[in-house]
Amino acid sequence: MEQDKIYNVGSYIRLSREDEDKNKIESESISNQRNIILDYINKQKENFKIYDEYVDDGVSGTTFDRPSFNRMIRDIESGKINCVITKDYSRLGRDYIKAGEYMEKYFPQHNVRYIAILDDIDTYLDSVSNDIAPFKAVFNDQYAKDTSKKVRRSLRSKKEEGKFLGWKAVYGYKLDENDRYKLVIDEEVAPIVRRIFKMAYDGMSCKVIADTLSKEGIPIPSVYANLNRGVKSSSYGLWCSRTIDEMLCNPTYIGNLCQGRRKTINYKIKKEIRTPKSSWIVIENTHEPIIDKEMFDIVQQVYKKNKHQQNNSTNYLLRGFLYCSECGHSISISKRTEDRAYTGCTYYQKHSKFKVCTPHTMNYQKLEKEVLREIREMCKKYVDSTNFENLLKNASKRNKVKEKIKGEINSCNLEIEKLNKRKNKIYFDKIDEVITLEEYKDFNNQIINDILSNQLKLKELETQLEIIENKMKPNNDYTSIVKEFLRLRKPSKNLIACIIDSIMITQNKEITINYKIKDPNLLINELSTD
Ligand SMILES: [Zn+2]
Repeated sequence: MEQDKIYNVGSYIRLSREDEDKNKIESESISNQRNIILDYINKQKENFKIYDEYVDDGVSGTTFDRPSFNRMIRDIESGKINCVITKDYSRLGRDYIKAGEYMEKYFPQHNVRYIAILDDIDTYLDSVSNDIAPFKAVFNDQYAKDTSKKVRRSLRSKKEEGKFLGWKAVYGYKLDENDRYKLVIDEEVAPIVRRIFKMAYDGMSCKVIADTLSKEGIPIPSVYANLNRGVKSSSYGLWCSRTIDEMLCNPTYIGNLCQGRRKTINYKIKKEIRTPKSSWIVIENTHEPIIDKEMFDIVQQVYKKNKHQQNNSTNYLLRGFLYCSECGHSISISKRTEDRAYTGCTYYQKHSKFKVCTPHTMNYQKLEKEVLREIREMCKKYVDSTNFENLLKNASKRNKVKEKIKGEINSCNLEIEKLNKRKNKIYFDKIDEVITLEEYKDFNNQIINDILSNQLKLKELETQLEIIENKMKPNNDYTSIVKEFLRLRKPSKNLIACIIDSIMITQNKEITINYKIKDPNLLINELSTD
């Protein structure tokens, strides 16, 4: 090792208009670049001596015809400096081919050591990574720019969304007196909202809930809003089931900002157009919730299941869960005698003339018994499994999504690695004159573009992963639900809705239960392959 060799350093600093991006100004400022270089030199054991500082201010990195850069080259050629240090590789230049030629050809030919501090490039160390690092560096620079723009854009749009919704408080909330873009709970009517959800939770229909409130003389939301603004009203109005229906599925009540639910928002016009759920814009955890998420979710499910049976007096436990395996339509339950009911494919029943499906007739009571027995067995397995707590933590959907993203990140990395290898190969093909310089440039550009798009995809995936890890806390703790189920002889519909999603029935009367909880054995397999 040339321990005693003296390195006469040319510290090269470049500030360009490309960096006149607010976020970049600070990190790329001349003093910042200088500090990083000085700090680096002070920390080295080797003998570095600064010969001169070469500053190009306001010159683009795409050209190499820069005054100070040219002066540095002259100093190299007259033997005054034998080491060039830059903060990072992009300071040397943004034209990666040209910059690469300096690093890989020109500097070595002139016995000049080149160091790009933040990119871990040091030609003296002669590491293989020097070959790949510069290209990464240039890209990193570009993503850094892209991502910071993205972050700012998303922050801004979030703000705008928040403001946009803010001017209309949903029943149960009011606008914060100090911050009109924020929702706070309106304690005067929040209890009514809680009561409405409780009634729905207990299985009351929207119509029954609406009638109950009307009978009690509770002002309807529009009348209440007017009263609050000092507009007196002769009546309190009548609640209609549509209002209740709309409230029950409004995620504002669990603390999420929700907009785009209606096309026309106007206090004076009562008739408003409701938009489909898919076009709602929801931002989570923007204000204090009135209803906890667990209750909200159960209401969504129970309510959805109950929608099918409004005209039917008997509330069968499995109604709304049964589906036809053959055609995918729902399976109905109809009473034949006082204590006997039968199932049937609704599609077949409607269009039996056209032979679209088969009857799917089963004794409902027997089916219910069989289903409950099977669910119970599953729940027992669930509780019995040894590392139960651990499994629960991993059972959430969150992890499934996380794993999927991780998989994509992995394949993205592999692809980049592959491309880098190919890039190296064509570099040697060029040296061996297997390909011409022109061909090399073409191939190289192509590969670099591919790497870049993969790197961008990677950044996006990593951002997604971060969001999931920070924001989606596991909230599906099934322990209590499963234990509750095992405790009861006849569980409630709500509880079943927590455990199962659907029950498929084939024409041969085979039953498949689709669980929300996971088979513990499957979970163990999933975890062990992690
Ligand atoms: Zn069918």
